[in-house]
Amino acid sequence: MSARQIEIKRALDDVRAQLKPGVELVVVTKNFPISDLEILYSLGERQYGENRENELSPKAEALPKDIDWHFQGTIQSNKLRAIVSVASYIHSLDELRHASKISELALEMGKKQSCFIQVNLDPEEFAKQESNRSGISAEQFKAFAEGLLKLAGVEIVGVMGVAPLNEDPRPGFETLRNLSQELLKVAPNAGFISSGMSGDYQIAMEYGATHIRLGSSILGPRRVGE
Ligand SMILES: *Cc1c(COP(=O)(O)O)cnc(C)c1O
Repeated sequence: MSARQIEIKRALDDVRAQLKPGVELVVVTKNFPISDLEILYSLGERQYGENRENELSPKAEALPKDIDWHFQGTIQSNKLRAIVSVASYIHSLDELRHASKISELALEMGKKQSCFIQVNLDPEEFAKQESNRSGISAEQFKAFAEGLLKLAGVEIVGVMGVAPLNEDPRPGFETLRNLSQELLKVAPNAGFISSGMSGDYQIAMEYGATHIRLGSSILGPRRVGE
C-alpha cells in the first residue's frame, strides 16, 4: 500500500468503528483528486459527496458506475441537467423553482430524483442577516415540503442540515429531528436525516442522523476553498 492508501485506510477505519448501526457514511470528496476516490473505492466506499457540478461530472465519468453520487452544494439552474443525470441524491434542495426543474429533467430521463430538503439550522437572528446561508427556514418548511410532494419527478427522502460554525450543534440537530417528524406526517417514506460533518458527526448520530457527510476526517485538510 502507498502512504496515502495507509493514511486513508486508518482514518476510514477509525470513522467506521464509530458509526452507529444503519448510518450511511457519505465521503465528501470535493477538492480531492480522483486518485483518492480510487483508494476509497478499493476500500469499499461507494457513497461520495460533491459540491460542484464541474467536479462531480468528470469524477463520475472516471470512476466505476456502482457509485452513488450525493450532490450537496449550492444549486445553479444551468447545471441541473448534468447534476440530475449523475446524482443518486441531491442533499441541498431549498428552492421550489429548482425542484420544478429537477422534476422536469428527471421525468425526461425516466427517473425520479431523490432529494433531501435542506434546512437552515442557524439561530434565527443570525439566519435573517446571513441570507447567503443555504436552506429553508423552519417556518417555510411545511409549505415547501407540500410543494415538493406535487412534483412527479422528485422523491423526497428526508431532511438535510449543516450545523452553525463554532457553536453547539445540538439545537440545530434538534430542529432537524423535529422537522423530520413533521415531514414523516406528509411523506411517510422520507425518514432520512443527513447531518453531521467531521466536527460533529458523533453528536449528529445521537440526534438521529441516517447519513453523515465526512470529508476532512477521512481525507485530511482540503487544499482549496470550502
Ligand atoms: C464540505 C462539506 C462537508 C464535509 O465537511 P468536513 O468538515 O470536511 O467533514 C459536509 N457537508 C457539506 C454540505 C459540505 O459542504
